[in-house]
Amino acid sequence: MTALAARLKRRVQAAGPMSVAEYMSACLLDPADGYYTTRMPFGAAGDFTTAPEISQMFGELAAVWLFAAWEASGRPAPVLLAELGPGRGTMMRDMLQAWARLDRDNAAKLEIALVEASPQLAALQRQTLGPLAGKARWHASVEELPGGPTLFVGNEIFDALPVRQYQFAGGRWHERVVGLDEKGELSLMLGPGAPDPKALPQGVPAPERAVWEVSPAREVLMEQVAGRLEAHGGAGLFFDYGHLEPAYGDTLQAVRKHRPEPVLASPGEADLTSHVDFSALAATAQRHGLDAWTATQGDFLLAMGLLERAGRLGGGADAEAQARIRGEVERLAGPDAMGTLFKVLAVAKPEVKLPALRSTAAS
Ligand code: SAH
Repeated sequence: MTALAARLKRRVQAAGPMSVAEYMSACLLDPADGYYTTRMPFGAAGDFTTAPEISQMFGELAAVWLFAAWEASGRPAPVLLAELGPGRGTMMRDMLQAWARLDRDNAAKLEIALVEASPQLAALQRQTLGPLAGKARWHASVEELPGGPTLFVGNEIFDALPVRQYQFAGGRWHERVVGLDEKGELSLMLGPGAPDPKALPQGVPAPERAVWEVSPAREVLMEQVAGRLEAHGGAGLFFDYGHLEPAYGDTLQAVRKHRPEPVLASPGEADLTSHVDFSALAATAQRHGLDAWTATQGDFLLAMGLLERAGRLGGGADAEAQARIRGEVERLAGPDAMGTLFKVLAVAKPEVKLPALRSTAAS
């Protein structure tokens, strides 16, 4: 049993069951035993591999889009590039290298911010950035960022923010909670109270056992981003896995050493995420007067020039390097890899005409 599991059991004994969101939050960010606060999650030796860790092309093509968004915003200078949840710092490094090639005259006078909740990962990001770290500032939340036009970017940040789950059973909705079973083990069960009707899906009656996920934490983060874009201008670009339309389903999942495991099996030692409801995030942005665009990751990367970039990197390289680059393209954009499951959401004020994404109609 993990140290965190023992503490969570004592907490449930003392204070009763907790919401799935409270459980997720403790597992990921508990200061003493949380996953992001104590472990090194990424890469082949870690628990999961993210797009920036697969290929430099991912960060480079994000930079191409961000640069176009900066130009479409009227080239404000200085402009802040703020990455949310930067992991190892790889994407920021690759974006900055690409940005330097795109903005040779340094017209953007780019300022750099990394928003990271884990002090351990912030230290790793500083290391990855090397000499580029001199210009960068670290912040624990979006609220701490300085004002001014901002280009927000984030990969797999929303999926790491906690969700609450509701289940339809016996003709009504219940909140799913983490309690203790008869053997004293952590167990998912239905809570006694009636959930807030505003949190529940409207309209069509749900099928028996349907699960509905909502994430106030994701909405708050999008509110913060959208509020800043509304006030100061700029744009936001977010990659994550999830669905473009609202859908029922229990999508909470734990991954450890590249394998799925039960979500209650080892609190604090496995990554815990759930699918992102992009329509909810887009609606939040639209409430702030922003436009929202969505695409699959594959379509986005192809539109930004993935194949051309791969061709350039591979040109003159040996057969082994060319095969590696082809493999990277396949993993990032292939329909059976990340290309379709992963989506992109872009947000900006309506006057900023952004390239290459499908507009999401206001809901
Ligand atoms: N973007 C990186 C890492 C994704 S994992 C990549 O693609 O490789 C999620 C990241 O978000 C981690 O860096 C984690 O520490 C950070 N994070 C999780 N919750 C956060 C929060 N509430 N605020 C800021 N960062 C958070």
